[in-house]
Amino acid sequence: MSDLLSVTDALQIILESLSPTNSERTSTIKAAGRILAEEVVSEVDLPSFANSSMDGFAVRADEVAGATPENPVSLPVTADLSAGSDETLFLKAGQAARIMTGAPIPTGCDAVVPLEQTNYYPVRAGISTPQIVKIFNPPKRGENIRPTGQDARKGDILLHSGIKLRPQDIGILAMAGRVDISIYRNPRVAIFSSGDELIPLGESLSYGKVYDSNSHTLVALVEKYGGVAVPLGVARDDFAAVRACFDRAVEFDADLIISSAGVSVGAFDYIRSVVEAYGHIQFWRVNMRPGKPVTFGDYRGIPFIGLPGNPVSAFIGFEVFVRPALGKLLGLNQMVRPAQRVILEEAIESDGRESYLRALVMFVNGTWKAKLTGHQGSGNLRSLVQANALLLIPSGVKFLPVGAEAEAWLLNT
Ligand code: AMP
Ligand code: MG
Repeated sequence: MSDLLSVTDALQIILESLSPTNSERTSTIKAAGRILAEEVVSEVDLPSFANSSMDGFAVRADEVAGATPENPVSLPVTADLSAGSDETLFLKAGQAARIMTGAPIPTGCDAVVPLEQTNYYPVRAGISTPQIVKIFNPPKRGENIRPTGQDARKGDILLHSGIKLRPQDIGILAMAGRVDISIYRNPRVAIFSSGDELIPLGESLSYGKVYDSNSHTLVALVEKYGGVAVPLGVARDDFAAVRACFDRAVEFDADLIISSAGVSVGAFDYIRSVVEAYGHIQFWRVNMRPGKPVTFGDYRGIPFIGLPGNPVSAFIGFEVFVRPALGKLLGLNQMVRPAQRVILEEAIESDGRESYLRALVMFVNGTWKAKLTGHQGSGNLRSLVQANALLLIPSGVKFLPVGAEAEAWLLNT
């Protein structure tokens, strides 16, 4: 057994120390993709009046019970009800009313015969109401009527707090007349890189230098998962430069600070010393591969996650720790990670740490299969670019043969 913290324990420590941002109000039309911060209870019945679900004729079911194509029942048509009609009509015995989808059901009527079951078909827009309609097939009582409250009753919970609002959720809010709602504020995530070798994109590279790619990956990840990214650039490898980056994150009132690099055991790794001086380190190093040196604590009270510097380690550290952390700050009531059980197309060796391998998963002949996408070195971003999943090899497992099952996190969703 390793004495390093497990991924599960590390994640629990992070999640326990975070709480959702405060809420704010937004108009319903702008709320798609946001996290709902209230329980939405319907103040109305949906629908609020009984209405027709078909274009047809409103009738009394008993009166047309014997109708057949050979022996139709004929009824005089005494009214014409279109959607939006505010007529409160009483349908007398022996009468029918032409009615369109969504129009209020007249009292006295208990079924709607679709146009297709009458002689008044086919029709075209603007056609006048017939004087007499012949019914070929009888409807059951209640057929083609949407009664008041069929979809929801006044007092029903329409949406639970903590869900990410989907287009259909926005629709039901509008249906229930909600003009605005309470949502969680999108968390601000300050991001900086650290290292003397890092050059901002757009400048020319000299020997020994590399572009700061992590900032770009991390900004994109933060925004993909609903945060507001506040990129702070690169801190040189010295105490004051690293501290200055943290202080700018404080000025921006960040809800979370993430950094990459400078958390290993190298002689120039200052991040931990700065956090120790002005905040707290809760853990450093987790039993995983890649991504072991991941660090968690706070800087002057603001939660901080230090990711490793290697580009793939930074990405995986984000997926494993920052994504759920963002979910917690966002107020999500559950974090669902798209995953798939897959069959290995090649054998896999691991060192016993919980491992995340870059893989391509494919649905072939009814089975989900997975193969690795090449060199798994933590600096090899290209094999991550070619992957569509991360294959999870649990801690303690050192070998998986061809045909073994494993879990894959899907990245392209
Ligand atoms: P470190 O964690 O500082 O030891 O860095 C580990 C490796 O990641 C080194 O090869 C760094 O050059 C590389 N690295 C660190 N930060 C970045 C970054 N922001 N973008 C690209 N590569 C980086
Ligand atoms: Mg470094």
